[in-house]
Amino acid sequence: MRFLITGSSGFIGFHLAKRLIDDGHLVVGIDGMTDYYDVNLKRRRTAILKTSNGYRHHECMLEDKNGLAEAAQDCNPDVIVHLAGQAGVRYSLEHPETYISSNLVGTFNLLEVAREWKPKHLLIASSSSIYGANTEMPFSEAHKSDLPLTLYAATKKAMEEISHAYAHLWKLPTTCFRFFTVYGPWGRPDMALFKFVRAIERGEPIEVYGEGRMRRDFTYVDDLVESIVRLVDAVPGELPLEAEGVADSLSPVAPWRVVNIGGGQPVGLLPFIETIEGCLDKPALKQMLPMQKGDVESTFADPSLLKALTGYAPDTSIQVGVRNFVKWYRTYCERHPN
Ligand code: NAD
Repeated sequence: MRFLITGSSGFIGFHLAKRLIDDGHLVVGIDGMTDYYDVNLKRRRTAILKTSNGYRHHECMLEDKNGLAEAAQDCNPDVIVHLAGQAGVRYSLEHPETYISSNLVGTFNLLEVAREWKPKHLLIASSSSIYGANTEMPFSEAHKSDLPLTLYAATKKAMEEISHAYAHLWKLPTTCFRFFTVYGPWGRPDMALFKFVRAIERGEPIEVYGEGRMRRDFTYVDDLVESIVRLVDAVPGELPLEAEGVADSLSPVAPWRVVNIGGGQPVGLLPFIETIEGCLDKPALKQMLPMQKGDVESTFADPSLLKALTGYAPDTSIQVGVRNFVKWYRTYCERHPN
């Protein structure tokens, strides 16, 4: 199949593109190489993808309609996976305009491309953060989740809703996946695992928000990719649900649904730090801080819908996942000091 992936130089896009190329698909990737974090890391991921004949790269922003159209033309996509966007909860407090531009304007442009090219399935990255003030655990797609706490979450929720309107109006089969704290090799330097490992290795203190009370449903990146690859064939409106008793989020008026991608096994921040200390064989210097504005105390995925649709749910243990990250991090730092 021919895949158009936005955000292919990003953490998740890189892993997904690599997996699809290895499976024999053609991938056309789009990425604007934004400077939210180290652009060299993005360039190195891209260089790896470019070594394959199955990959073609378009460096362009989602806001550039012509660039997007050219990439789609280069590919005539069977499937579009939309991962590009401005990530990060805390950054959205300081840089709100980036979220409007990348996540709203960019997604609108991408939907217009999808409307023209009519892929058999459009898959869009949403986030567990849209559950916001929801305290009903675990988070199920059937819950009302109307109260985003940050602009990041609000733009992700708006993306879901705008894509629903497009799915309805233009009969575009669409799945929005809600990712839960993804981690693994080639991960993002702004996320906790990367920051903690780097600081502990250097003997620097780590900032522990919420006095360590926070819990996160961490999802190992290979498990996430496996889930996405399986969901490609679970086109909304085509497949009946295999399992009974699962609350489906399929829209009554459009070929559209949301699906959690998380294993449903939240880990406390302090046990998470202990796991890192164990893998590094070094103690962390913990600086305990209060919760930050917009942070939620816990995330906890209900993976039943994912399981019913794909027969699969993430299951890599945090010990194995963190060990793999540390191994990658040490090799990466050796090759690219600074
Ligand atoms: P990432 O920042 O590594 O990747 C996003 C990529 O999109 C980057 O390479 C960036 O250059 C590109 N990009 C950003 N704005 C762009 C624009 N306007 N035009 C073109 N390219 C642009 O992030 P990631 O962790 O790979 O996340 C991928 C998607 O999944 C994002 O939409 C993110 O919000 C969502 N998500 C991620 C997580 C997680 O834990 N990593 C959790 C929930 C949701």
